[in-house]
Formats: sequence, C-alpha cells, structure tokens
Amino acid sequence: MASNKILFVTSEAYPLIKTGGLGDVAGSLPAALKAQRQDVRVIMPAYREAMRKAEKLGFASFQIEGIPETVRLLEGRLPGTSVRLLLVDSPAHFDRPGGPYADPDGHDWADNAERFAMFSRAATAVALNKAGLVWQPDIVHCNDWQSGLVPALLNQYPNRPATVFTIHNLAYHGQFDATKFQSLKLPEYLWGVDGLEFHGGLSFIKGGLVFADMISTVSPTYAYEIRTPHFGHGLDGLLNHRADRLVGILNGVDYKQWNPAKDPHLKHAYDAQSLEGKARNKQQLQKQSGLPQRTAAPLFGLVGRLVEQKGIDLVLSIIPQLVKADAQLVVLGSGDKGFQTELEEAAAEYPDHIAAHIGYNESLAHQIEAGADMFLMPSRFEPCGLNQIYSLRYGTAPIVRHTGGLADTVVDTTDENIKQKTATGFQFEHATHEELWWTCERAISIYRDQPKLWQQIISTGMKQDFSWKQSAKHYLELYQLALDKLGGKAARP
Ligand code: ADP
Repeated sequence: MASNKILFVTSEAYPLIKTGGLGDVAGSLPAALKAQRQDVRVIMPAYREAMRKAEKLGFASFQIEGIPETVRLLEGRLPGTSVRLLLVDSPAHFDRPGGPYADPDGHDWADNAERFAMFSRAATAVALNKAGLVWQPDIVHCNDWQSGLVPALLNQYPNRPATVFTIHNLAYHGQFDATKFQSLKLPEYLWGVDGLEFHGGLSFIKGGLVFADMISTVSPTYAYEIRTPHFGHGLDGLLNHRADRLVGILNGVDYKQWNPAKDPHLKHAYDAQSLEGKARNKQQLQKQSGLPQRTAAPLFGLVGRLVEQKGIDLVLSIIPQLVKADAQLVVLGSGDKGFQTELEEAAAEYPDHIAAHIGYNESLAHQIEAGADMFLMPSRFEPCGLNQIYSLRYGTAPIVRHTGGLADTVVDTTDENIKQKTATGFQFEHATHEELWWTCERAISIYRDQPKLWQQIISTGMKQDFSWKQSAKHYLELYQLALDKLGGKAARP
C-alpha cells in the first residue's frame, strides 16, 4: 500500500498511560505502521501522568475549530519510537490525579462524557485539517468508545477522511444519560436508533459502530462471537447489519518489551535454549511473594484486571484444590473490591500457597510471566488478550478458556497436537470451576510426571511469533478497504 496519512485516536498509549490492552496496542501498532512507511500520528488526551512522562513536548496549536480557546495541542514523540504524538491539553478535563477513566478510588469520572466528547471534537478538527497543523489525514483510526464520536462527527463532512473503528472490548459502551446528548450539543441528526441512541440513552461506541467506514476487532474469533447475542452486549444486531464492514485482526505484541532474553525487569535472562534463568526467576518470584522457595511446586501466575470478565471468581473457587495439590499461585491485579478482598483473604489463609499483589505493577507483571510455570486466563470473553501471548514467549504454559483471542493464540495439549508437536498450552470450553480445575490438573500432571513433554510444550510456545509486522499489514489492507468504501460513498446513514 502506498504511504497514507493516518491519525490514530486513542485514550491511552503505553508508556505514557495504560490500563489494559488498548494501551499496549496504541503503544506499538503506530510504530509498526511507521515501519510500513505510513505517516502516522497518535492523538491522545494530555492526562497529568502522560504529560509527566512525555518527552520534549512542544506547542503545536491552539486554533482548534469548535473548541474553546483554553484547549491547546501539544506535539512530541511517543517515547521509545519516532511516532509523532499530539496531546489534547485541556487542563479542566485532563490535568488531575488518577487514571484516564476513573478517580484514584476507582470511580468513573463524573464528567467522562464531557471529557471524551471534547477529546473527540479535537480529534475531528485535526482530521479535517482545522486545527492549525497543515496536515490532513487520509485515514482516521479510532479505538473504543472514548473516540466513538469521531466517525459520527466526521460523517457530516463530504471531504472527510476514511474512518476505521476498532473494538478492543465491546463490554464498554460509553453509555450516558440521554440529557447528555443535548448538553454536549451534538448534531441533532445523530440522535435516534440509527445514530447514537441506545435503549434511550447516549452511546458513544455506537458512533463508531454505525458510522465508521470499516470496523475491526482484535481477533478473528471475537469478530465472530460479537455477532451472537451471548457476546454482543446488545449490539450484535447492529454488528450483523454491518457484518460486511467487520473484520478481526489479531493484536501483535511488542517483543522489544516482552523478551525474556533481554528484559530489564528480570534478574535472570533466559531463552528457549537455556531455561536455567527461568528457574531462578521462579525462586525470586517465590521469595518476593513470601512463598516457600520450592522448585517442584507448580507455580501458577495471573496478571490482570480483577473483574468478572477475567473469570477471577472461577480462580477463587479452585483455591482449595490448588492448595491440596500443593501448587502455588501468585496474582497481580486490581479492580473489583470484592475480588481484591477475597484474594487477600485467601493469601492470609494459605500463606504457603497463595500470594496476592493488589495494584498495578509493570515490573512485577514481567516477573510473574517469567517466574510462573503456568499462566491462568479463564476469561468469560477475551477480545484478544495479551498476557497469554507474553506467557508463550516466557515459557509459561497458558491455561485459557476457548474464547476470543485466547482460542486464536493457544494450541491445546490434545493427543493429536502432542503428536504434531503443535501444543502450546491448555484450553477448556465452559466457564465453570470444575472445567478450570480439570484443566489445571491436566497441566499439573504433565508438569510433574512428563517433564520431556512439558519441555516440548513450552519450547513450542516460545517459538510462536505474534509480532506486529503481520498484523500491521492486515491493518493496511483494512485502511484500503475503508478508503474504497468511502470512495464508493457507501458510508452511513
Ligand atoms: P485487558 O485489556 O482486558 O485488560 P489484556 O490481556 O488485553 O487485557 O491486556 C492487559 C495488559 O495490561 C497486559 O499488558 C497486562 O500485563 C497489563 N496489566 C493488567 N493488569 C496489570 C497490573 N495489575 N499490573 C501490571 N500490568 C497489568
């Protein structure tokens, strides 16, 4: 594909700010697109934390059409890359402590509708070359509900760029009271079930789903699943209606950040040829987590948001069996207060077997990937999931539910796959604690009794390549489709 100008609109980007998979994607896909000779710029809100971490920020513009004067555009580089970064600096909306979507206590900011409407308006102005940058993108790539209004707002302009909307998690809609539609002064024609209305309220994500020229999500299996009522969160009808615009592209991972041979967060480097370092990292992790340093104990790791989606309740219910089997479990995460408390209580009750680290800790996430023998991801749904992919590279066999990106990246240890030497982990079908436990037992028994087979499983996993290069090429094809659709004037409504 020829070089295109791409505006990548995101509400988080590693290493400036990250709450989950979108942050990882926004931190690495733009650089992979740049490596494919695309002119890509990332636009993100100027959160206090991001401003602190961004390097060499310069003033870019304060003439953003349709936005009050107090908002400026700052320009810099996404740290660690040569990708140009635009930060929408509206102190009233973004200069505050806490996360991008929630306050330090974990409650959603009360003005999220205003914050991301303002951000979307700024991105729309940049997309239309009305922000004093003298740069007009060909493609605007939006991500999740926080930038969902952009395709909707752009749709009214005849000479607009093509729009792409990527769903990183359909569970989060950006759903607000209908009165916000008026107070945000959104164009009247956007109201209605063919627009931003969803069950009487205002839905930001519908802006992307209804109006984008092309829609993608982050794995082929999730692209299929979200068209069914079980996974559709009430939007499956709309997604079926737009099925000819919907594709699944598996996320890549950044092996510069996630490589056990060169990981600055690890005390002991290792690779598939020499796993001695992995054993040392296990000891280190046990020590750091206050667990007995027992080499033979199968050590399970879990890193992630502690929410129902991730099957944390299932993990809690197998703790007695894990303890009985003399296994160990190290959990790192934050989220639902109830899950946090239950995990801390389990750690207090079984100090030799369970360790709970509540909070967000990038270094420890790497150390768990390296030190654990198996990685638990019993998600009820999982658009792509990154930790199972990191686990593969770190020689830590993933134990996953057969859903979304987990189904697309982990090859189950069946007799057939053992014979073919393709097995890389363990899968189970139903979100029940019985099935999760049987699968853990399956893994434990191979780990204990068939070390050669275990070795084969993890070394096959370590060889898998989910780097961004391939995925970036698929995004280029997606951009071309969006340009074709726009050229054919097939945009909605
Ligand atoms: P999701 O986007 O649903 O949260 P993903 O698996 O796609 O899940 O991405 C999660 C990312 O966030 C991974 O890079 C993971 O390591 C990281 N992460 C999640 N929780 C924590 C935590 N408590 N500490 C450090 N990293 C975390």
